[in-house]
Amino acid sequence: MKVYISADIEGITGTTHWDEADKKHPEFKEFQKQMTAEVAAACEGALKAGATEVWVKDAHDTARNIIASELPRKTRLVRGWSGHPFVMVQEIDKTFDAALMIGYHSRAGAGTSPLAHTASTRLAHIKINDCHASELLLKTYTAALMNVPVVFVSGDAGICREAESLNPDIMTVAVKEGVGNSTVNIHPGLAVEMIREKVRTAIEKDVSGCRIQMPEHFSVEIRYKDHAEAYRAGFYPGASLKEPHTIQFEADDYFEVMRLLLFVA
Ligand SMILES: [Zn+2]
Repeated sequence: MKVYISADIEGITGTTHWDEADKKHPEFKEFQKQMTAEVAAACEGALKAGATEVWVKDAHDTARNIIASELPRKTRLVRGWSGHPFVMVQEIDKTFDAALMIGYHSRAGAGTSPLAHTASTRLAHIKINDCHASELLLKTYTAALMNVPVVFVSGDAGICREAESLNPDIMTVAVKEGVGNSTVNIHPGLAVEMIREKVRTAIEKDVSGCRIQMPEHFSVEIRYKDHAEAYRAGFYPGASLKEPHTIQFEADDYFEVMRLLLFVA
């Protein structure tokens, strides 16, 4: 069994301020270590459940955050950004059996994390078929395109509730709850233990129950904080400026949505 892990930092236990997610700030080291510990725990849980191969995509900012030497030896780590439209799930393909999302966070516009955003902090929101889209939703669709079900999500409570509403069979560990500009966190050590155990259970059970229904059509709305960015993005082939801050794009093929986001998000 081959398992894919996509890891971000804003939904790791403790992260509350942008400085903690930024390599240039001294506080980053503490949360880089916790991100690594939570990803390592997910790898260990998957291996205990019988995974023969685990691939990890470091999917935050520079994509060079996870300390490779602290991961189990049976893992492969994808660092940096290739430029492929799959971005946070780069290298996922039909040979994988299950995907896990670690450190995922609430979507742009949600009040459930001080670090809530989708794709870029320059966006006010992304909507697909009139519903707010999170990075979790965008990457769950990408994985589904490769026929890989997302079976486990850890992150803030807001994104865990969203994962459960996507498919109640997706197992979650909520490591914190956002309150205004603050977070209420469980202990970092407890988060690691819970992720290891729940990932093991999620992989051991029938992962096919976690599959989701892909929409037949994607009506995409992207709202920018800066109107000038929307104006520019409106020139992407097939996109149009809907309002001064907002573009609209239509596609039946989800790959075209990913291609759009690669260039305008
Ligand atoms: Zn991030």
